[in-house]
Order: sequence, then C-alpha cells, then structure tokens
Amino acid sequence: VVAAEQIRNLNKYERSILLALERGMKRYSWVPLEHIRAATKLSESEVNYRLSRLIAWGMVRFNPVPYDGYALVFGGYDTLALTALSQKGTLSALGALIGEGKESVVHEALGLGPVAVKFHRVGQRSFSSARVNREYMEEGHCPWLIASKKSAEREYLALKRLHPAVSVPLPIAQNRHAVVMSLIEGGILNRTALETPEKTLDEILENVRNAYRAGIIHSDLSEYNILVENRRCVLIDWPQWIGTAHPNAEAIAGRDIDNILAFFRRKYKIRRDREVALQWVIG
Ligand code: ATP
Ligand code: MN
Ligand code: MN
Ligand code: MN
Repeated sequence: VVAAEQIRNLNKYERSILLALERGMKRYSWVPLEHIRAATKLSESEVNYRLSRLIAWGMVRFNPVPYDGYALVFGGYDTLALTALSQKGTLSALGALIGEGKESVVHEALGLGPVAVKFHRVGQRSFSSARVNREYMEEGHCPWLIASKKSAEREYLALKRLHPAVSVPLPIAQNRHAVVMSLIEGGILNRTALETPEKTLDEILENVRNAYRAGIIHSDLSEYNILVENRRCVLIDWPQWIGTAHPNAEAIAGRDIDNILAFFRRKYKIRRDREVALQWVIG
C-alpha cells in the first residue's frame, strides 16, 4: 500500500494517467504509450516524466516487449481507491498497517472517526510471478483487478445485509477493491483469554444463526476471523460468503460450526454436540 503522503503529493496528471491505465486495461494487456497520450492529452515528455514517477512509487509497471506498454499494479489501484474515498470525504488520512491476510491488507485510517480500510488482494500471487503474469496479460484480461474489486463488493454487500442483526464491523464505504468499515479495537479470538467461554460460544452461535436467517453463511469462520472487543465478538472477513439457497449450504454451515466447536473444545474443554448446534443454527 502506498503511503498517504504520496497520495497527497499525487499530481493531477499522475492521477489522470492512473485513470487512463485503469480504463485501458479492459482492452490492453499492456496499455500502449500512444493510448495513454491520447487518453490524457498530455505531451510526450510530460507523460514520460509522470510515468517514471508512478513506476518509482510502485503504482505502474513497464514492459518493453513487443511494444512499450504500461500496466496498473496494486499500488496504483490502491491510490485510485484512496483518492476517490478522500474526495468523497470518507477518508482524510491513511494510518498504520493493522492486519495482513492471505487475500488482503488492512490499514487503520481516519474518517469521521477511526476506521479500518481493507484492500482486497485477489490473484496477487499469480501477478507477482512474471511468467504467469505474462500469460494472463496476453489474454488481454486483468484478472487481479476484477477479482479484487468483486471480492470487495461481495464483502461490502454481506456487511450491509448483516449489520446490525449480526455483530460485524459497520460498513461505511466501498470503492474499487477497498472496503471502509468501523475499526474494531480488540484482539483475535485465538489470542484472547476468555473469562466466560461458554457465554462467548453461545454468542458466536447466535450470530451465526442470525446470519443464516439473513440468508448468509460465512464459509471461512474460525477463531482467526473473530475479533473480541470489550468482551463482545465481532465476526469479520466475509468476501467468500455463500447464500443459504446454495445446494451445499448445510455442509458449509456445518464446517463453520465444526471449526468453532473444535476451537472451544481444544482451548476451553467445552463439549457441544455438532448436530444439535447445526440444527439450532439452520432450523
Ligand atoms: P484471511 O487470510 O483469513 O483470508 P483476509 O485477508 O481475508 O484474511 P481479514 O481476516 O478480513 O483478511 O483481515 C485481516 C486482519 O486484519 C484481521 O485478522 C484483523 O487483525 C484485521 N482487521 C480486519 N478487519 C478489521 C476491522 N474492521 N477492525 C480491526 N481490525 C481488522
Ligand atoms: Mn481465510
Ligand atoms: Mn481472515
Ligand atoms: Mn479472508
């Protein structure tokens, strides 16, 4: 993720180049220099100068073969999302990194109050490998950009549908691959010493049941996707949710419950019947 300072320093020409690249990547694997010039109406020397800065900041990549082409990378996409969110007044500053998952980076930020910004990063691994990257690109697709945006939209939709019936972060805004939500001040359930674990387990199952009643199954629920804030559980990380009409809904809901029951059995020696719990949740 790009530092807030660089975003403030981003010149209007640099922003218009990033926007031209974002649009251009629907058509081109590597957007030709000529296309960027035509889309931005900037002189050749201006475009070259601005592109060199964007490349140095890790927002854009250059590929000289078979023609001089440029591609947006995550750093540039982050910048576009952040500038859009700050223009709307949703964000005023980006703070420290507070979490890094397999498919995202999460930052603290300042909005009306403290907030969390989750930048979805789907298809990143493939993208970091030059060979695979080339193969993807030659098909003329931009899978990481589309997949990361879809993932953010999906998570935002779930939070909107679940809040406040289910204890989830408050959804505030979404732009491109970024989701802005309330900042949860607490630790991960896995690393929290619970005083009343029986109660906490009941609370989690009740949230899972309320989500099910809202038509949503988390599908990646575990002690790593639950935060504990002032002894209250908050269920996070929703992009992979599925609807309760899914043909495997019962099995997937069962797996979520198995993960939770296994954790409480291991760490707190609490035994619950999984069938009873599952029927209570989906019944
Ligand atoms: P995974 O690797 O499990 O798929 P992920 O990349 O999907 O993770 P999340 O689990 O949503 O990402 O978030 C990663 C981390 O960021 C969390 O473990 C948590 O520490 C932190 N985090 C996420 N959302 C918030 C929030 N709203 N408030 C505070 N911290 C958060
Ligand atoms: Mn996960
Ligand atoms: Mn997670
Ligand atoms: Mn996840």
